Amino acid sequence: MDFAVALPLFALGLAFGSFLNVCIYRLPRGISVVHPRSACPHCEQPIPFYDNVPIVSWLVLRGRCRRCQAPISPRYLAVELLTGALFLACYGHFGLTLATLKYCVFGFLLLGLMFTDAETQFLPDKMTLSGLAAGLLFSLVIPVNDLVSEILPGLVPLPASGAGGRLLSLLDAVAGAAVGASFLYGAGAIYLRARGHEGMGFGDVKLMAMVGAFLGIRLTIFTIFAASIAGSLFGLWTLCAVWIKRTRRRMLRLHESGPQARRRAWGSATIALQRFPVPFGVFLTGMAMVAFFLGNHLLGWYWRWL
Ligand SMILES: [Zn+2]
Repeated sequence: MDFAVALPLFALGLAFGSFLNVCIYRLPRGISVVHPRSACPHCEQPIPFYDNVPIVSWLVLRGRCRRCQAPISPRYLAVELLTGALFLACYGHFGLTLATLKYCVFGFLLLGLMFTDAETQFLPDKMTLSGLAAGLLFSLVIPVNDLVSEILPGLVPLPASGAGGRLLSLLDAVAGAAVGASFLYGAGAIYLRARGHEGMGFGDVKLMAMVGAFLGIRLTIFTIFAASIAGSLFGLWTLCAVWIKRTRRRMLRLHESGPQARRRAWGSATIALQRFPVPFGVFLTGMAMVAFFLGNHLLGWYWRWL
């Protein structure tokens, strides 16, 4: 890693992270991300440029607005640092190539969607649909190298020139988008049948279309499976935490016996989990990031085990 590249790239990541914070706050609320200038959500005073320096300002002001002292969420700091780290990781993994640019853009969108989903349970079209378009365009420049490029040339004669390769890569991106979207659409339909209420919105379908366009079929399926496992583990962990907490409360406050408190707490904990919206978009975006850094290694390791 060359420090003359890494350092400016990290600084660029911090600046993009700062902009991403604006997007995370404004896009779900339908406010423009360019106008008006950043303002404190509490006192609505515009934030001067010297209070808007990534990381430094948050630390200097100790996470409070200079005027009204309203606390500023540590999310601002986290998103800036994560975007900086993401840009560095892309450079470390892909070197000084166009792939680094592609995955910086992809990771930037994923981070933004992860935080908007966690905060608002909403995945803005401005991120997912522009991401889908960006993924398809990138496939023309950086080969996706997925199933279509591997299988199709054996079936139909294709021009061996650059245009043929570009077309295959684009088809890989389109196939990835179609597979990602239909998986989530199908899962949503099954969930609606089984539970009687909507568990996944159409936002998740568009999110996976975008992920598919960037990653191709294989890594998209990897993303969906890994996210399902992570989401299930998270659900199980939440269920147990709520169960233990409510059992203790019942024993202390209602003086119930251990077995009775455990049984009743279990009943109320399972109902609580059914109503609790598991932010599936958070797991999908997180695992999509794991997929582009480690997915091919993990898949290779998995095939060797079979
Ligand atoms: Zn303020």
